[in-house]
Amino acid sequence: MGAGTFLLAGCGASVASSDQPVDSASPTKASKKVDVASLGTEMRAEAPGEVNAPSETGGLPPVVRSIKTDDKVVFLTIDDGVSADPKVMDIIRKTGIPVTPFLTKSEISGSKDYYKQISEMTGQTVQDHTITHPQMTGLSADGQQKQICEPAASYTDWFGAKPWMFRPPYGEFNKVTQQAAKACGMDYIVLWNASLPKAYIRYAQGDKLKPGDIILTHWRPDLYKHLPRALKDIQQQGFKVAALQDYLPRRTQ
Ligand SMILES: [Zn+2]
Repeated sequence: MGAGTFLLAGCGASVASSDQPVDSASPTKASKKVDVASLGTEMRAEAPGEVNAPSETGGLPPVVRSIKTDDKVVFLTIDDGVSADPKVMDIIRKTGIPVTPFLTKSEISGSKDYYKQISEMTGQTVQDHTITHPQMTGLSADGQQKQICEPAASYTDWFGAKPWMFRPPYGEFNKVTQQAAKACGMDYIVLWNASLPKAYIRYAQGDKLKPGDIILTHWRPDLYKHLPRALKDIQQQGFKVAALQDYLPRRTQ
């Protein structure tokens, strides 16, 4: 009896110690490391044969929260641009995932080279997320237009392609935003229906991904810790990451 108790305790202790997360700063199992190499190089979905992109409604760019598709694909959009982290670039390079950057101009003046590299490496155009990340609905028509047009012009210079998707900060917009977006050459207002706020994916509904989900996350200092696990989740649910611009192609020039 005494020996049995000892053995059980010893076994439990040994399992517990070998199971310790590599990053001991975070107490939850959420930080348990996923080896990027274990994800392989097949996480990027092939381009679809044909797409049925949403068209303008009432002469204004459509608002897109998810993509209508039967393909087992999801889309990863990464916003703002505060943290230009080489570790995140490394994960993107190793997995080949075509992430879509929605960048805030005022956040990236010191890290243009980083985002240019991300764009070239993934083949994805840098898209528009305003100059200063304001609440668009609180601005005048002129103010809204400046917030959309100015980054579009700068990004054309900096990254070699004009954006055609606009994401309003906080997902807040009104009809004036749609009009301003159109005036700046935007073909789509792109929102999201799932997110990666920290370690785990927050689903649109229930606890699973659906084909066409658009996942929002941010260029933030802890993204490198959580991105591999999120990609593992995506993979284990049988999904790949597709290029948003394949499903929302540029309409105007
Ligand atoms: Zn943002």
